[in-house]
Amino acid sequence: MSKKILAIAEARDGNLRNVSFEVLAAAKRVAGGGEVVAAVLGSDAAKYVEALGQHGAAKVYVVTNSELDTYTTDAYAQALRQVVDAVQPDAIFMPHTAIGKDAAPRLAARLGLGLVSDAINVELDGDAIVFTRPIYAGKAFEKKKMVSGTAFATIRPNNIPAEEAGASAAEQVDFTAEIKDLRTIVKDIVRKTAGGVDLSEAKVVVSGGRGVKSVDGFKPLQELADVLGGAVGASRGACDAEYCDYSLQIGQTGKVVTPDLYIAAGISGAIQHLAGMSSSKVIVAINKDPEAPIFQVADYGIVGDLFEVVPLLTEEFKKVLV
Ligand code: FAD
Repeated sequence: MSKKILAIAEARDGNLRNVSFEVLAAAKRVAGGGEVVAAVLGSDAAKYVEALGQHGAAKVYVVTNSELDTYTTDAYAQALRQVVDAVQPDAIFMPHTAIGKDAAPRLAARLGLGLVSDAINVELDGDAIVFTRPIYAGKAFEKKKMVSGTAFATIRPNNIPAEEAGASAAEQVDFTAEIKDLRTIVKDIVRKTAGGVDLSEAKVVVSGGRGVKSVDGFKPLQELADVLGGAVGASRGACDAEYCDYSLQIGQTGKVVTPDLYIAAGISGAIQHLAGMSSSKVIVAINKDPEAPIFQVADYGIVGDLFEVVPLLTEEFKKVLV
């Protein structure tokens, strides 16, 4: 049976995040020829309709309330609830980003739905949607089959490939939500880091651990990341030692990343760190201890001093990439 799927898109700094297209691709996979409807929030949301249509949305709900220009749990949950009521979807997919992780449980509670969090795959089994998600900090995977009611899931970025943009256009549905009794109003946003590649969507991540030994020890990692067009990440060991900001932390209590290439330098490979990066497509570990557990998950291991190895890699990549 064909299904109507609501894919919630996410924009940041005036651009749609790539995960929005991945969520649309996930929706198309299980729609069974049914309708994929997107929703996008914020005053300037109309400018995203074309791109969402090219990536598979038949209709785009454009929710332009100014209260949605900056994220708050209250405003998003209220607006999205009204969109869901209007669309009446068989399933709702949302990016598993900081916003998705925060808003989805609130929305699920308001709708009285269960939530499959952090899905890395979606497929159809007969008429039921089956979600695959990591459990036990990424040591195992479980499949959850939604046999009745509206399925609701957050989709992990960088797992379900976005489809190439096509020529199709979406119907724009202008939607004003009733937003009231907000308990949080954002007055200003102060960014810790400016610019650079977004860590959670980066195709290449170069991460440093306690082995970098200092704030300056991150410089060669940043140079390598710059040459590769990637982002710098870190273990909690490096963050705890104040070599870098916690916004770079990858792992169970940090960000989850799934880049094409993950380079771990001076990171031992604790299970809590692996939880955030073990589904990376290619893992390269650089560690001077040949017994370091990170080598068990690495596709390529380099036993050596990161301060010698990383600059050598940067020089070699420069020859072919710059
Ligand atoms: P270490 O374990 O100290 O490893 C440093 C490594 O660097 C060593 O393997 C050493 O051989 C190598 N090294 C040293 N010098 C060099 C050199 N010059 N060249 C090459 N290699 C070198 N950790 C996370 O990362 N993310 C999380 O989200 C996270 N959440 C946690 C949640 C909980 C509840 C708990 C209890 C822990 C959590 N941790 C997390 C911490 C985790 O258990 C580890 O303590 C942490 O990952 C270790 O960081 P590290 O690998 O950088 O440091």
